Amino acid sequence: MPDISRSAIANLEKAGLGGILYKPEQKSYEERIASYWSLTAQLKPWAIIQPRNTKEVSKALQTLVNTTGCNFAIRSLWDSGGHMAWAGSNNIEAGITIDLGLMTTTTYNPETKIASIQPGSRWADVYTELEKHRAMVAGGREGLVGVGGLLTGGGKTFYTCRYGFACDQVINYEVVLADGSVVEANKETNPDLFLVLKGGSNNFGIVTRFDMTTFNASNIWDGNITFPKSATDRLVEAFVDFTKNLALNPDDHILAMWTILPRTKDHFITMVLTNLDGVENSKSLQKFLAIPGGQGNMTTTTVAKKLVDFLVPSGKHDTWFTLTFKLDARIIKKATEVFESLAEELKKQIPDGNFYISMVLQPLPTSFARHSVARGGNMFGIERLQDDCVLLVAAVEVETPEISSRVGFPTLKAAIAEIESYAKSLNGDIGFLYLNYCDGSQNPFSTYGEENIKKMKEAAAKYDPTGVFQTRVPGGFKISKVE
Ligand SMILES: Cc1cc2nc3c(=O)[nH]c(=O)nc-3n(C[C@H](O)[C@H](O)[C@H](O)COP(=O)(O)OP(=O)(O)OC[C@H]3O[C@@H](n4cnc5c(N)ncnc54)[C@H](O)[C@@H]3O)c2cc1C
Repeated sequence: MPDISRSAIANLEKAGLGGILYKPEQKSYEERIASYWSLTAQLKPWAIIQPRNTKEVSKALQTLVNTTGCNFAIRSLWDSGGHMAWAGSNNIEAGITIDLGLMTTTTYNPETKIASIQPGSRWADVYTELEKHRAMVAGGREGLVGVGGLLTGGGKTFYTCRYGFACDQVINYEVVLADGSVVEANKETNPDLFLVLKGGSNNFGIVTRFDMTTFNASNIWDGNITFPKSATDRLVEAFVDFTKNLALNPDDHILAMWTILPRTKDHFITMVLTNLDGVENSKSLQKFLAIPGGQGNMTTTTVAKKLVDFLVPSGKHDTWFTLTFKLDARIIKKATEVFESLAEELKKQIPDGNFYISMVLQPLPTSFARHSVARGGNMFGIERLQDDCVLLVAAVEVETPEISSRVGFPTLKAAIAEIESYAKSLNGDIGFLYLNYCDGSQNPFSTYGEENIKKMKEAAAKYDPTGVFQTRVPGGFKISKVE
């Protein structure tokens, strides 16, 4: 163990944090490492510190900052999470990981209708708590995905069609700054910090509480309809039509997921369809429901009940890449063709067929940005876009780190570049990369617009003048790396 690691551990113990410090030989350490969603993110830090409250976050942060040369990482989530998949985004090899997994409370104030949510919570638990009060919030769409990363990175939600992104619903942040001070950031107090936290990720401090506006919970009508590959053309047409009209029908939500199972070569498309008011066969979902060959399980449920069971399997070596392009059936069709070639290429390079690939397309119409602007705006800068767009995220999951770096990463990267180049050829590339879906080699902030980059750089310099979150927290996307 290097000297710095010994000093860091000794200093944390001296600060009275020994009881929440896990070292490599301890069972709790191994459990916390194993709890990362992706094997790719399961680095082995010198130790893990797991604060129980804001005061302990502050103490841990001050101690680490004062330990010369000690770098550290931040992760959220107590169980099966820390969902950012790329190595080093939420963990560290040579340093200490601050793990917010014990800070999991959601409190609802019926008078103000504000939900106060700690960063280590998972969305399924947030919704379960809120539904007890018949309240709901716009947050993540998978049960185990974490609050801290999703909200600081933005947050695409079931309700983005009505209210904008998850970060647009935050009215106040409690943040621990690099000097250990605890500040509130809202429209009146530290408004510059308030704004940059809406999508600016871990560049300014550690968020220890998010206060979010809620709305009345209602039943949803929801389920998956799975179609054979032969339905592609009609699905693409329906997707384009749905996205174009989403501003007029903001009660429906869709995710279009292409999956290929390499062993059987089964290629299918799953439409995850949701009506947010529980209306069966709602008007804008009917186009999908009418396509022949679909088999589904639509049912009336609630967001909390859906998410308790809606878990994307973990425990693989993952590569994720994202791309956004103009809503154009030709580009979507090209993406599906590239996706098929990707499956063929992977099959050649991984002959035992032990991999999984998926590509998810989501509407990103101009109305989403209008909802964000109406709530004060965020860092994405997508209000500049004149066209409805499509947000694509694709993933390759393999069994070993070696296959991931030799095959998974380069093939997926090349596939995304091919779709991007085709989009460019049709003037359909719009140069926006959504941080929460990015691979570590992508540079989302560089696509957020000059003005927002300036705001983030200024806020980082003001609230973290010694650059702790730029240099001592090397993981995640760094605003200082943007030219
Ligand atoms: C199965 C699955 C489903 C997903 N569903 C959605 C979805 O519906 N919508 C969507 O927008 N995205 C979704 N994502 C992407 C997801 O938003 C990102 O992976 C996000 O980073 C995960 O949040 P986390 O809390 O697990 O963060 P972590 O992986 O722990 O952290 C991510 C980043 O945020 C930083 N961070 C975490 N907590 C804090 C904090 N409190 N203060 C400051 N910085 C912090 C970390 O340092 C790190 O850089 C999904 C991902 C997966 C794997």
